[in-house]
Amino acid sequence: MFDLDDTLFHHRQAVRDGIAAHVRSTLPDVDVAAHLDRWDELEELHYHRYLVGELDYLGQRRARARDFMAAFGHTFESDAATEAWFETYLLEYVRAWALFDDALPCLRELSAAGIRIGMITNGIPSFQQPKLDTLELAAHFEHVVTSGEFGVAKPDPAIFLHACGLFGIDPAESLYVGDRLHTDALGAVGAGLTGVWLDREGAATAHELGEAAASGAHVVRTLAELPVLVAA
Ligand SMILES: [Mg+2]
Repeated sequence: MFDLDDTLFHHRQAVRDGIAAHVRSTLPDVDVAAHLDRWDELEELHYHRYLVGELDYLGQRRARARDFMAAFGHTFESDAATEAWFETYLLEYVRAWALFDDALPCLRELSAAGIRIGMITNGIPSFQQPKLDTLELAAHFEHVVTSGEFGVAKPDPAIFLHACGLFGIDPAESLYVGDRLHTDALGAVGAGLTGVWLDREGAATAHELGEAAASGAHVVRTLAELPVLVAA
């Protein structure tokens, strides 16, 4: 089973391209490149607050928009205006959607080998499903589990066990791969699956590699390594 964002789908790049286009269209004099990391940080901060129940889904969007635009001296006059700003950003985000080059070849190879494929993603169905449909991923997945629909998010073991239950298979016979060490790989290990951490940038610290090794999680740099791991 796979994570979606930044595992198969190049979420981070689409986010950066999307916010850059959105800001350029409204604040042409701003040096957008200098603010991209901040937009990433605000997503990390407020989306996590949503995942742990501190904010609702629209609330995390408004918080990201307000905090980001405050740096330019802009305040929104209403929740509706804040959400409208975010919706316009999303149009640019969607325009920038793309898969990683290794995504479809990996899925095709696993499918050809008779491996059953599923997804567990921390998000809401209405936001995640269009990515699967638009990017021709959907046909590869027997089951797609979203935290928004299930009610708890990774790394809670319950969501991994729920997905295994949909397949009717033992967690020990399942493998989960994602780009976050704790949320994905160690979360999966905690539920009894084989966990795989996809470290595309090779950015792992010695401490993180130690954590992965101690838990028995595998570390890969590309999805091309996955078919061999699954067959092992
Ligand atoms: Mg991810």
